[in-house]
This record gives sequence, structure tokens and C-alpha cells, in this order.
Amino acid sequence: MSTRWIYAFDALEAASERCGGDWNEVRGLLGGKGANLADMTALGIPVPPGFTITSDACNAYLNVGENLPVGLADDLTAALKIVEQVTGKTFGDPRNPLLLSCRSGAKFSMPGMMDTVLNIGLNDGVADGIAKLFDDRHFALDSYRRLIQMFSTVVMGIPDEPFEETLREFRAKRGVESDGDLFEDDLESIVDGFTKIFRNRTGRDFPVDPMEQLTMAVEAVFRSWNGRRAIAYRNAAGISHDLGTAVNVQTMVFGNLGPDSATGVVVSRNATTGEPALDGDFLINAQGEDVVAGIRATRTIEDLKREMPELHAQLERYAGRLERHHRDMQDIEFTIEHGKMWLLQTRNGKRTAQAAVRIAVDLVSDAIITKEDALMRVTPEQVEFFLHPQFDSGTKAEAVKEGRLLTVGLNVSPGAAVGIAALDADLAELWAKEREEPVILVRPETKPDDVHGMLASAGVLTSSGGRTSHAALVARQFGKPAVVGAHKIALDLEARLITVGSTVINEGDWISLDGTTGELFLGKIQTTLPEIDDPWLMELLGWADDVRDLDVWTNADYPADAVRAFKFGANGIGLCRTEHMFFDQSRLPIVQRMIMASTDADRADALAELLPLQRSDFAGLFRAMDGKRVIIRLLDPPLHEFLPNQDDLIRMTTDLKIRLMRARDLAEVNALVRELEDTEHILAGVEALRESNPMLGLRGVRLAILLPEIPEMQIRAIFEAALQVLEEGITPRPGIMIPLISDSAELDPMREIVDRIAVEVLGERLHEIDFEFGTMIETPRAAITAAAVAETAEFFSFGTNDLTQMTFGISRDDAEKAFLMDYLRLGVLSTNPFDTLDRDGVGALIRSAVEAGRAARPGIHVGICGEHGGDPASIALCDELGLDYVSCSPLRVPVARLAAAQAVLNRTDRADVEANPPEELREGVFANAG
Ligand code: PEP
Ligand code: MG
Repeated sequence: MSTRWIYAFDALEAASERCGGDWNEVRGLLGGKGANLADMTALGIPVPPGFTITSDACNAYLNVGENLPVGLADDLTAALKIVEQVTGKTFGDPRNPLLLSCRSGAKFSMPGMMDTVLNIGLNDGVADGIAKLFDDRHFALDSYRRLIQMFSTVVMGIPDEPFEETLREFRAKRGVESDGDLFEDDLESIVDGFTKIFRNRTGRDFPVDPMEQLTMAVEAVFRSWNGRRAIAYRNAAGISHDLGTAVNVQTMVFGNLGPDSATGVVVSRNATTGEPALDGDFLINAQGEDVVAGIRATRTIEDLKREMPELHAQLERYAGRLERHHRDMQDIEFTIEHGKMWLLQTRNGKRTAQAAVRIAVDLVSDAIITKEDALMRVTPEQVEFFLHPQFDSGTKAEAVKEGRLLTVGLNVSPGAAVGIAALDADLAELWAKEREEPVILVRPETKPDDVHGMLASAGVLTSSGGRTSHAALVARQFGKPAVVGAHKIALDLEARLITVGSTVINEGDWISLDGTTGELFLGKIQTTLPEIDDPWLMELLGWADDVRDLDVWTNADYPADAVRAFKFGANGIGLCRTEHMFFDQSRLPIVQRMIMASTDADRADALAELLPLQRSDFAGLFRAMDGKRVIIRLLDPPLHEFLPNQDDLIRMTTDLKIRLMRARDLAEVNALVRELEDTEHILAGVEALRESNPMLGLRGVRLAILLPEIPEMQIRAIFEAALQVLEEGITPRPGIMIPLISDSAELDPMREIVDRIAVEVLGERLHEIDFEFGTMIETPRAAITAAAVAETAEFFSFGTNDLTQMTFGISRDDAEKAFLMDYLRLGVLSTNPFDTLDRDGVGALIRSAVEAGRAARPGIHVGICGEHGGDPASIALCDELGLDYVSCSPLRVPVARLAAAQAVLNRTDRADVEANPPEELREGVFANAG
């Protein structure tokens, strides 16, 4: 049986049958757009008739050296016949001509990345026919010149420039801004000029045979799958290169037939904020490209409601029907031809992170999706976006006072961006890489060719374009703050200048933009980390909490971090790195004295000074986490980290010696001698502590065993703080954690100290404090001997930074600047194991350690506190390994809450349900088609 290459829009049933009823397969075969057109037709939505050439046909074409696959030409003729019958029009007949569009449509939406040809079927004779038929020669000629231009650039690969140049000349001659304002005579000359350009550039005449036009256009769309920008987009969006694109051939309907015609784009909910109301742009008497190109100032959908209320109401009804059917916010293209509404396409709309969250939650309230669906609709990256910096309100107010607020454009993609202005995409990409400074791409408007520059930039600014312009869509998709349509800015691309009123900005100058408000500022504005108080996000994360099995804790070293993490939903502290409290500038000299002490008494003095400081830190953590576990890890890093750098010290001693030789008076000599002695003393200390591999040296528990005064002080501070807050009515639940063990025996002396000091400090109140003694598992040996370790340890916390370092034998400090990056580039490793937990090695160690630990001590509490604790893929693995909790930095806590819920939902194959909604949820489609 020969392959069927074409499905008419009303042949959904046949396509579905071929795909075994699998909607995902139907989308693969017909492309997202084609499947949707068929689906809309089946739903009773007014769609201009047409058909879809399958993506199989595209792959066959590309595989056989760009030749039409056998049978396609015949199928095309047959499909066309049917469209002619349905519309009552004839392709190429000047008396009643059928005009067609030819558009790409792959399985996944790739906005603007591939090709489209409109008005196919026009030639001199048909143009004359249309002029008579519509009594509108202007329209006929305008459509004709559009066909020649698009056909030339898209199908024949002629640059756009000569065509645009011609249009510019005619506009200048007439003194008009828009092509639509040109005269019929002008258009006649332009058509003439365009056909000449075509002939000069291709050595042949513009094809007058409509069928030849159509076939060539179809082939061009097939080829555009392998175009440079399509490949770049697929790389960025992670879309597979072997899917191919389907091609949709559809009857043209016209929004440019006068004041009762219009064309526009709407989303069923606001794509920026998520508000449940139609939002979009339209233009009366225009074609679709005029709306998206951003050249003519578009009008809002509110105006449509005022001017064509009946059509607006229809649009609202269709949008609601499509939204319920697709169970998601829809992005719809429509055209009104002489007062009749046509829908050209619908797809799930792109949206900002804020909108994604609100829409997911609202769709649950509207009973369109379930809470579980909503949790799968929002990505961890989108949650992270809520935590992106925003402008500090004080600094912003000052900037306004200083007159640095230059203009306000459309706020199409939220977030604050500060960067140097770059006026083209290549330069933006180059500067972002080479100058290592954030860049803001500033363009009149953006095109698919600019995407690489947008991706490299911190933000995007355009002087024209609307809410559905290319810049807005792409910025929203990739979470880039963007302001578009800032028409007060003038760009001089020759002189590389931006002018706003009397302010002149040179390319390379700093600007700041606020994608949430649309404001543009001169210079830099300070950014701050936001609080998350978005009510929809709170609701969604609450649902995540109900679903997830993993507890989410935080790594917090200071009370302020703990307070923030608690607000973000952390249910405990999984790691307090106490050494961070030692690095405080006011404390460092005491710590250094403690390290350099030559007698036990001197060391005891220094430790006594540190004790109250640590006590107050711990008390702060207990207060912030009242009633929740606070795991405090004893001092971990090698001591030399608290002392100055050895090279600096050598330089300082040399310098002091030179100054001493030159010193004149006795007082100066004495001062320098004292300073030199001190420096040499520290240098001697540094040299004594020097190790070739400090990461594998005297650190963690080893240090505590050799200098037990240090853990004694820290443990005392923990219990004293617990007692102190207990008296304030707080419930402290300390966990005392020992770092970097490799043998269970190392825990014994630590346990002895803990038990002794607990009794000493807490006395009778000992039983009132729920404390646990546990250890980090950071060395492969500790993991392998976990059964013995669990005899003493009451909890395990996997320190996956060190465990990864020691399992791979790759230095965590040097990894990213050494061969690891080459490994990733060469594909020796597929992911960076310091970013995403390695399942086969480190993961296997964790799995066996958890099993052994639980066997030895049933109910032992196990979690992870390495950086992986905030990485969604690693969180999924932790869920699979059955850990009790993940602990991550405060800013990752909301992300981890969602990721942990998604891990559970993925476990039960919810993603599959999402991609293939059960038949009853896709009401109408198959029923109507059948
Ligand atoms: C770890 O090693 O994973 C860990 C949490 O400890 P640190 O990063 O402080 O060494
Ligand atoms: Mg560690």
C-alpha cells in the first residue's frame, strides 16, 4: 500500500486511526499546527479549508536528496481538488480564484523559525481577476507584490534587501510611512520591479503556473527544516533534529479588504500576568504579518470589543471552547474577512513564569485540569524565576528623581536586567562571552536571526513591536526580561547610538530595564532578591507539599538566611556550616589567634572569646526554626583557610625587611620589627599547616580529634544556646553533625564529648531537649561502612560535593577550570556530576549506604546537603533512593518543593497522562470526526 502523504483538515479521524488513536503521534505526523487545524475543524470552529502534508513527507524529501517522494504530486492535485470543491473556487481561475498559504508546522512550535508563503496562486491574470472581483485593484496588486517578495526570499533565497529598498523608495516618493498607503500605480511599478529583481537574481521568470508555485513553496518549507536559524532554535529549545516539519496548505482569507476586515492575535489569558481575560493585538484592514512584524502600531483587543462587539463575543466563545478542549491557555490567530470571523490557528500560548503559575492554578479552579496537572505544568526554572533579582525600590526611586527614567515601553517579560547596550545580536553574543559583562540587546525589532543574541543577553529592548511581537514571544519563552515598543527611543545603527529625547546613549553604555513595569533607565540600578508573596505560587507550592514525599530543608549559616528559608517553606536546617561564622571579619583575628596559639592556655582564651559569638548565632537559628530540626556541623575546613595566603605573607615579610633597612628613627624601627615578627610567626604557622592535598588532609573530624578543644567549644555553644532559647519559650531541636569521617571509630570521641557536655550544660533539663548526633557521609569508605557508622550515628547527611569529588577523584575546586569541561564537550561525560548527582557511582553508594544504615538502625534519618539538594534532576534521584529530605540553599527551597512533587508525579507516569489526555478530556474531537 502506498504511503498517504496528505490529510485534509476534516480528516482527523483517518490520521488518528493511522496513529492508533495516540494524539502525540498525530501531532508528530501532522505537526502541531496541522493537528490543531484538524482538531479545530472537528470542534466546529470556522477554519479556512485546507490540508496538511505530513512530516513523513518532509523526512522522505530530505532523505532522498530533496526530491518529492513518490505519490506526493498526485496526492497534492487530489487534495487541491477537494479544497476547490469545498470553497467553490478554482486555483488559477481569474474569474473565481482560490489563493493558498503554505506554512511550516513541526511537532513542537518553533515560532518564526521556518518558512511561510502567502497568496500562492496569483499571476498577472489572476491579479486582474481579483481586482475586478473585489472591485479593489489596490488589494490585488498589494497581494501580488507580497507573493513575489515572499516567494523570492523564502523559496529562491534572494535577500530581502532589494525588495525593501524598492518599497522604501516608493514610500519616500509618496511621503507615506506604510506600504498600505501606496497608490495603485506605485504597486503596479513595484510588481514590475519585483519580477525584474526575480529575473535578474534567478535567471528565470517568476513562475506563473499556480501549481508550480505551490510545489516549489512546499519544497522550500521542507528545506527550511534544515535552515540555520531552525537548527539553532532546536538546539536552544532541546528539540530533536529528526522530526521534520509538516506543511499546511490553506485557503487564504483576507483581513485587508476594507474597514469590515481585520486580523489579529489573541491569547485566551494574559500571557504576562496570567489574568483570565482575552489579550492581544489586531489591525483593521491588514494582513497577519503586519501585526507580528511590529511595523504598524497595533490596537488592543479592548478596541475590538468596542468596535465589533459581536465578533469579539464570538472570539471569546471560540477561545473558551478551545481552551477547555486543549486544557490550556491558547494563542489564537484570527482574521475577519468582510465581517466573517475565521480562526487560522491555535496553540498552547507561551507565557511568563508568573503567568504560567497563575494560569495553572486558575485552570484548576475552572475545573479544566487537576492539581497534579497544574504541578506538572510549571517548571522548576519558572519557580526559580520568581526569585530573580528585581530593582531595589529605593535606588529606583532615586534614579527617577535624578531624571534617569528615560521612557516606558510595553512590559512583556518581567524581571530586572542591567547591562551594556549592544545594537546587534552578534555583538551581544560576543560581548557577553568576551567582556563577561551582562548585555542588553537593543533593536528596532527582533527577527528569528537575532535569537542567539537574545539568548546571550540579560535583557531585550526594542523600539517597535507589540505584545505578540517576535521579541516578546521569544523573551517570554526563555525568561529574559524584555521591554518592547519603546517608541520614544531612536536607534542609529550606523552611528551606533540610542537617542531618547535629549539623552544620547552610546553602544556599550550601561542601561537598566524593568520588564515588569516596562521602564528603561540610564545607567545601573541596584537589584535585590525578592520575597515570594505571589498568591498563586503559594497555592501551587502548597499543593506540591501535599504531594511530595521528600522533606525540604535548607543550608543556612546565619539567622537571616534561616528566616528567609523558613518563609520560602524550608522545614528545617540540614546544614549550618559553622566555619562561615568564623570567617566574619570581626571574628577572624580571634580564630587566627586560636590557630596560632603556642600554649593550651592561649588557645583556651581564644576559644572562650568565640564561644558567646557562636552561642548567639545558634540561638538565632533555633529561633528562626522554632520546633524544627537545626543540624549544626562542626568545623570542617583545613585551618590554613583561616590564615592569610602564603605568597602574600612572603611578599609582606620581604617588603617589611626593605622598609626596615630604610627606616630612620628608632620608633619606626621598633614598630617594623614587631610587625615583621608577627608576620613571620603567621608565616611559620601557615608553613606548618601546609599540605599538598588539603582537601584530603587535616580537616573535618580529623581536626576535631587532634584539637578537641574546638568541638568542645562548639558543642557547648550549641547546648547553651538551646538552653537560652528554651527559656524564651522556643523549642530548639539541635542536630550535631560530624564532618568528613571515613571510619565509624572517628565518631566515638565526638559522641563522648557531646554526651559529657550535654549533661554538664543542660543538667536536669537534658530530657527537655530533643537533640540528635549524626554524621556527614562524604567519603566512599564512610558510605561503604555505613552499617558500622549507623551504630553510633543517629542520622546520615550525604555531603555529595565531597562524595562526588572523592568518588570520581576529581577536585571539586578545579573541576570547572580543568579537563572536566573538555570531558563534557567531548561527550565522555554527559552531565557535570557536580551539578547533577551521578546515578551510577555516587547514587549507588548512597543507595547501599541508606540500606545498610536503615538495617543497622531502623528509622535512621537520611538526607542530602550537597549542592545537588537544589537540582531538580538530583532531587528526583533522591526521591527514588528513598531519602527523607533534601537540604539546599534558601533560594532553591521553592524550586525543590516543586521538583520533589514532580518526582512523585513522574513516578506514577503522570507526564504520560499529560501528553495524552484521556479521551473524555479531549471531548469533541474524535466524536465529531467520527
Ligand atoms: C558536601 O561536601 O557536600 C558538603 C555539604 O560539605 P562542604 O560543601 O561544606 O564540603
Ligand atoms: Mg563536605
